[in-house]
Amino acid sequence: MNTIQSINPATETPIASYDLHAAGMVDHIVKQSWNCFQEWQSTKLAQRANYLNKLARLLRDRIAELSQLITAEVGKPILQSRAEIEKCAATCEFYAESAPDFLGLQHIQTEASRSYVRFDPIGPVLAVMPWNFPFWQVFRFAAPALMAGNVALLKHASNVTGCALAMEQLFCEAGFPAHAFQTLVIASSQVAAVIADDRVRAVTLTGSEAAGRSVARQAGASLKKCVLELGGADPFIVLADADIQQTARQATRARTMNNGQSCIAAKRFLVADTVFDEFAEAMTEAMKALQMGDPALEFNDIGPLARGDLRTELHQQVENTLHGGAGLTTGGTIPEGPGFYYPPTVLTNVHPGMSAFDEELFGPVAALVRFSSMTDAILLANQSRFGLGASIWTEDHEQAELMAARIESGAVFINEITRSDARLPFGGVKDSGFGRELGEFGIREFTNIKTVWVA
Ligand code: NAP
Repeated sequence: MNTIQSINPATETPIASYDLHAAGMVDHIVKQSWNCFQEWQSTKLAQRANYLNKLARLLRDRIAELSQLITAEVGKPILQSRAEIEKCAATCEFYAESAPDFLGLQHIQTEASRSYVRFDPIGPVLAVMPWNFPFWQVFRFAAPALMAGNVALLKHASNVTGCALAMEQLFCEAGFPAHAFQTLVIASSQVAAVIADDRVRAVTLTGSEAAGRSVARQAGASLKKCVLELGGADPFIVLADADIQQTARQATRARTMNNGQSCIAAKRFLVADTVFDEFAEAMTEAMKALQMGDPALEFNDIGPLARGDLRTELHQQVENTLHGGAGLTTGGTIPEGPGFYYPPTVLTNVHPGMSAFDEELFGPVAALVRFSSMTDAILLANQSRFGLGASIWTEDHEQAELMAARIESGAVFINEITRSDARLPFGGVKDSGFGRELGEFGIREFTNIKTVWVA
């Protein structure tokens, strides 16, 4: 296969085809990247910040066209596509302003006359990215990486090449040198050769566990730094004292954002036994009230899944869970007609050993699980190979903060749905990956933390 195609998932019609870069072209792009780094690493932070601020302005100026592109390629409801572009712009501004603090010399008192830590760039970094937030996933890597003096090589998911090329163009127009941010139009089978290239200094992957394991193996073979942001099966824990109606509305929002295709979407809803029935009824009503249809129309809440194979897999997981004895209060049937639509679905009385508990369900399907005590809730929350995010819903903040310390995840949100925020570190533990993006921790992942000692 020498071409890849973008297909509109709402209509199943092709948007565009792209020729894959052959090995010679990949080598040429990596060379340009390496050459660009030699200059870029010595630019001043203020200059990099100017480019990032210009990039933020360009994103906002073109928000209508860029959000349409996202919606066409992945089926994201248009208002959410706009919010994604806005978040990218805000993150560029955040790093333009905060990087001098994050990257400044850190003086440490020793018996030297001066001893300090520098945060130096490391070189070209390969970013292997997923389709679900086609701009945001890339920007949350690229804004800090370029600000730190690195250059970026993007291998985007094969169904969002239009977004990938649009981003390359935007970085260029914002004033970054032509090869500071480049897109490699390659298949996943071509990634290993790029990781092995001496000029590429590190790799970051956001995607599935399987892709993460493969890239980690390749990075290990070349002894290169890697950051992995993988899947999740986040628990959403509802304690008996929570406001059930309000929490059920938030649960619906947390499960269905981006048509349920978000790594940090709440996926396992752990609900106190005494309020389980009331919660299940309220969440079912809220899920039924969502409007599914053309994602380009503002009044629709749910669009199609991004690809047909993803819908087939999701439906299989729902069927497996039902065969295992779970209940179904709404959804669970593939609708007639074009588009990879899957209806908001609620599964009840889910427990460990069922697909909906053990696996990541990437679509608008909520798995409701009962718990009888706080200890039971923590055990169930941690009974997952994933550990990305978690949320706890209760009036008792003290209790929730005690629970937060015991939950195995990269983030715990109390009375708020789990989300990423440029100011705060983001990442997971266990099979959700390692390393952090965003905040001060994120920008330092791709730096050489260098000690300087002056006797
Ligand atoms: P995916 O199939 O793993 O693809 C992600 C990227 O990896 C794509 O660019 C893909 O390229 C590439 N890829 C796949 N297999 C590879 C391999 N063996 N070697 C090198 N590259 C490979 O994941 P997806 O379906 O796009 O995204 C959904 C998954 O990403 C979910 O599990 C979700 O939870 C996770 N995710 C995690 C985060 C996070 O921050 N933790 C954020 C978003 C999504 P091709 O498209 O060419 O195959």
